Amino acid sequence: MPKAALLVNIEDLKIVDREIPQIGKNEILLRVKACAICGTDIKVFHHGHKHIVFPRVTGHELSGVIEKIGEDIKKYKVGDRVTVAPAIPCGECYYCRRGWQSMCDNLKTIGYQFDGGFAEYMVIPEVAIRNGCVNIIPDGLSFDEAALAEPLACVINGQQLSRVEMGDTVLIVGAGPIGCLHAELAKNIGASKVILADVVQNRLDMASFTGAIRVNSKQTDLKKFVADLTDGRMADRVIVAVGTSDAQEQSLELVAKRGSINFFGGLPKESPFSKINTNTLHYGESFITGTHGSSPLHNKLALDFLSAGRFQIDKYISKKIPLEQILEGLREVEEKKVVKIIVNP
Ligand SMILES: [Zn+2]
Ligand SMILES: [Zn+2]
Repeated sequence: MPKAALLVNIEDLKIVDREIPQIGKNEILLRVKACAICGTDIKVFHHGHKHIVFPRVTGHELSGVIEKIGEDIKKYKVGDRVTVAPAIPCGECYYCRRGWQSMCDNLKTIGYQFDGGFAEYMVIPEVAIRNGCVNIIPDGLSFDEAALAEPLACVINGQQLSRVEMGDTVLIVGAGPIGCLHAELAKNIGASKVILADVVQNRLDMASFTGAIRVNSKQTDLKKFVADLTDGRMADRVIVAVGTSDAQEQSLELVAKRGSINFFGGLPKESPFSKINTNTLHYGESFITGTHGSSPLHNKLALDFLSAGRFQIDKYISKKIPLEQILEGLREVEEKKVVKIIVNP
């Protein structure tokens, strides 16, 4: 019998036998080949999520092969290798019609409202297929590599919102997998200097492959460091890829005139406030944006970038594990010992 990792309740994850799911005439049955563990999976494991009703199969950075298609599906066929953009827009609300699908009023997410990729089989719902969430994996890109399209899609969305441009100095706070993707994307766009800051030395060491200028902001005065590198102008783009108010508050000291700050990581819902010097924005004409997820088109763009060899994908995949080892995998990611772990159900 096929297996699934079922989150029965908070911190109660069980490997269970599950029948192959039935599909409707507008749905697809996916044989999941790879599903990367993300920081969100760890958050959900410990705290649940307001949109999750237990029991639920989580996992949203996934790829697989189409095993079966509903009779009304014309665009795909059995055997197609695909990724599924997990944030599913409705296609009908005001924001969808404006082309801002990640802001959809009726957003549903794989791993939250629908079962996700930590299982041998999953159903791709009709609303996802209809709204372009199912993208064919380009030839030459493996299932494991394609699973990185999801985090990269969010990073692309973030840098579009930050308006990263050729010649910019880009400072990224947080050198985890997301920080590394930001660093590589900024280089691809043509940033002249890319700086990665973190307080965990191990993470900075693992991020050396990005070629970014790395700095331990626990040991070094980050403001002085960035000032020295920019003749005192500071960073044109500051991307805060960690979820702490300290980092958010400090970012105002690190941004150049007419620059931008991106609160890419959210704060815990119990303490979502930061105290910021708004005069930096007033006198410096800089701006702050946030980033939440990505749209199906960002996912497609991410696949194209990955297959064009623009990212050192192999450096992100620290380890591959079978579904049975998912609990150890979650722990290792939480301890920040690895860049990314891929589960192969
Ligand atoms: Zn994720
Ligand atoms: Zn919508």
